[in-house]
This record gives sequence, C-alpha cells and structure tokens, in this order.
Amino acid sequence: MPKVVIVGAGPTGATLALLLAQRGIPVTLIEAARDFQRQFRGEGLMPSGLDALHQMGLDSLLETIPHRPLSAWEFWLSDRLLFRADEPMGAARPCTLVSQPPLLAALVQTAQAKPGFEWLGGTAAKDLLWRDDRVVGVMLADGRTLEADLVIGADGRASAIRQRGALTLETQPKSIDVLWFKLPAPSGYETDNRFCTVVKGGRVFSLFHGAEAGQMHLAWAIAPEEPTEHKNWATTFAALVPPELADHFRSVGEAISAPMRLSVLVGRCDRWHRPGLLLLGDAAHPMSPVRAQGINLALRDVIVAANHLVPLLTSASGVAPAALDQALSRIQAEREPEIIQAQRLQAHEAGRGELLRRFAPLRQGLGLAKPILGPVVERVWTQQQQRLRQGITAVQLQV
Ligand SMILES: Cc1cc2nc3c(=O)[nH]c(=O)nc-3n(C[C@H](O)[C@H](O)[C@H](O)COP(=O)(O)OP(=O)(O)OC[C@H]3O[C@@H](n4cnc5c(N)ncnc54)[C@H](O)[C@@H]3O)c2cc1C
Repeated sequence: MPKVVIVGAGPTGATLALLLAQRGIPVTLIEAARDFQRQFRGEGLMPSGLDALHQMGLDSLLETIPHRPLSAWEFWLSDRLLFRADEPMGAARPCTLVSQPPLLAALVQTAQAKPGFEWLGGTAAKDLLWRDDRVVGVMLADGRTLEADLVIGADGRASAIRQRGALTLETQPKSIDVLWFKLPAPSGYETDNRFCTVVKGGRVFSLFHGAEAGQMHLAWAIAPEEPTEHKNWATTFAALVPPELADHFRSVGEAISAPMRLSVLVGRCDRWHRPGLLLLGDAAHPMSPVRAQGINLALRDVIVAANHLVPLLTSASGVAPAALDQALSRIQAEREPEIIQAQRLQAHEAGRGELLRRFAPLRQGLGLAKPILGPVVERVWTQQQQRLRQGITAVQLQV
C-alpha cells in the first residue's frame, strides 16, 4: 500500500495521521518537538472545528481533555459594555476552549494503536528527497531518510517543507503582534465565561477563562515594532479592564505571568502542492488569531484531504502518481475559497477594532448611543459571525 509521511503533529498533522491510520494507510508522523507543551498553542474551537472533530468520531476523546465552553462574547468600549452576545448563537455547539497539548497527545496515542502508524517525536524533518522532479520522501535532521509516495507538510506557518518544496507564501502586511498573559481567573468566569474584547486608552485586548481550571488568558495586541519591556502590568490592566475586574487585577499583581510575545503571520500559498507533496493547515495558509480560525480551518482541510486521498491510497489496483497529483490539486481547489473568505473576514473584523481603537470620538459616540445602537450592533455582528463560526463552504467527511 502507498506510504504517507506527515511532517508536523499540530492539529493538522495529528488528525490527518489518525484518519489515515484508522483507514489502514501506512503513515509516519514526524514532530520536531519532544512533547506538545510548546510555548503557546491556541485553544479556541468554533462550532465548525467541533463539528469537524465530531465527524472524525472524536467526541468521546474530547470529553477526556480539559475544555470549557464560552458563555458569551462581550464588547467593552472604554468602561461601557456595548453588547453581550450569548453562545451558542444559533449553532449546535458553543465556541469551546480546548487544551491543545493533551488533545494532540491523545490523538497521537490513539493513532499509535493502529498497525501501520509510526511516530517519530523529537525529530525534525530537514529536507525533501526528490527524484525526477517528484518528492519521494524526507530527510531528517539526524541524517536518516524516509521514502514516501506522498509527503504532507503540516509543519505550521514557518514551514520548512514549504521552503524546501519551493512553494511561495504570499504574506499580508504585518499589522500586529500579541503579548499573551496568564493569571488566576476571577470568580464568576468558571460558570459564566465571557470572551471580553476591550477597546480603551488606545488599546485593544481580549480576556477569557482558558480551558485549564482557574486560569484566565489576556491577549494584548501591540504593533510589531513596539518594544515589550514593561512595567507594572497589573496596574496597567486594572486601569483598562471592565470595572468589575479592576480589583481582581490589582489583587493578583505578581501572579500575572511574564508575557509571551507571539508574532502574527497571515498569508496563503498560491500553490499548495508539487508532485508527491501537499501543504495543509498553517503551512499552506497561516491564519490570524482573530476569531479563532486557524485550528478550525486546519481540521476542515484534513477532512477534505482525507476525502480525496483515502479512496486513492486504499485502491486495490494501486495509485498512479499522476492520479495522486491531480487529487492534490483538487484538495487545494476545494479548500481555497473558504480560506480566502475567512482571511478577508478576519481582516475586516480586525479593521473595525483598529478603527475604534484609533478614533476616540467614534468610541464615545457609540458608547453614548448604546441604548439605541447596542442591540443593532449586536444583531449585525452576530449575523456577520456566522460564517467564521460555522464555516463558509460545506465540509463533510465521506470516507
Ligand atoms: C496568538 C495566536 C493565537 C491563536 N489562537 C487560536 C485559537 O484560539 N483558535 C484557533 O483556531 N487558532 C488559533 N490560532 C491559529 C492556530 O494556532 C493555527 O492556525 C494552528 O495551530 C495551525 O495548526 P497546524 O497544525 O497547521 O500548525 P501548528 O499548530 O503550528 O503545528 C505545526 C507542528 O509542526 C511542528 N514542526 C515544525 N517544523 C517541523 C519540522 N521541520 N519537522 C517536524 N515537525 C515540525 C511544530 O513543532 C508543530 O507541532 C492562533 C494563532 C496565534 C498566532
């Protein structure tokens, strides 16, 4: 049977490896890190991502992982609550924070029970092997080589596989970095976990209770050139957060973690494939963190890739390289429209936040007109979120 090598065990690589292994396809999953506790992994799963996991038959696995549904989205302009939109906003499931390290570990562990699955953790892929203009495997950092009928680059936004495959990433102009803080959660968020977006004092930031018990996250947007060294974060935040949280921020003081600076890269490859090679997830289209899209879209990439690849890779008559390459092209064609739209919607959402951040009179006007405009803004916003929450194109696992 044809052999697949997947580089990268993030959400894209781990779920695709599991789907292929469950269908009897020999697959090797290569992950550079020794464990899944990397500095930062996003947690927000939209209804579309939860639906993708459901389609993959992973509901019961998800139940074993620390997770926490969101109750609502709140928007604060200076110290006024503009509106609150309650989850699940018409969807089958509410947006849910899911702890990624245990999720990835559980996915790999489940795949390890399947014959034909090989796990190479703590091993980076360094290069591609080529034969007659076709990718035929990978070379590992320790010099070992692995031959494959198909290599999948799921190695994230800085993808080495993309570079070695000479697939070009067109990036959007860089507009923000994010400083990520963790702190003890205030009471009340355990049961009423609202994702608060705050625009105040020339700043935009978000806070919410993460998947793990007792932990609040605060994502602080900064300009890419803005220096990080600071000051008393507790005092800074206490002056900006919704009034009900000010005392909490003052009291947790030292318990606020030192920030992680996360660079935001957004872009899309014009071409996701070469003969014998396919990019998926962030390797093909790194996503902005706005409205938690990247994991969800990656899981939907995986379903579409499985639909096209499984029938070919399990065919009793074997697979012709040309047929495989045509399938790679069809996968890109099916996924690209949703990616383009989602990146546009993310940019639109970020643009509105930036407008409010920069123009105090707009903030004040909206704040004062809240009794009349609040419900209208909520209705429009809720409607506009539907595609970012539920997905833009139909994605259904068929294999
Ligand atoms: C600040 C921030 C917050 C975010 N929050 C969210 C959120 O809440 N919800 C959401 O849906 N999305 C979020 N995203 C986006 C999301 O993190 C990505 O879209 C998603 O992780 C993409 O998954 P992936 O599997 O394609 O890549 P990754 O998650 O980046 O996984 C790639 C894997 O490949 C491994 N790897 C890299 N190079 C090699 C190599 N040479 N050899 C072997 N292995 C290698 C890496 O170690 C990694 O494990 C956020 C992004 C940012 C920047």
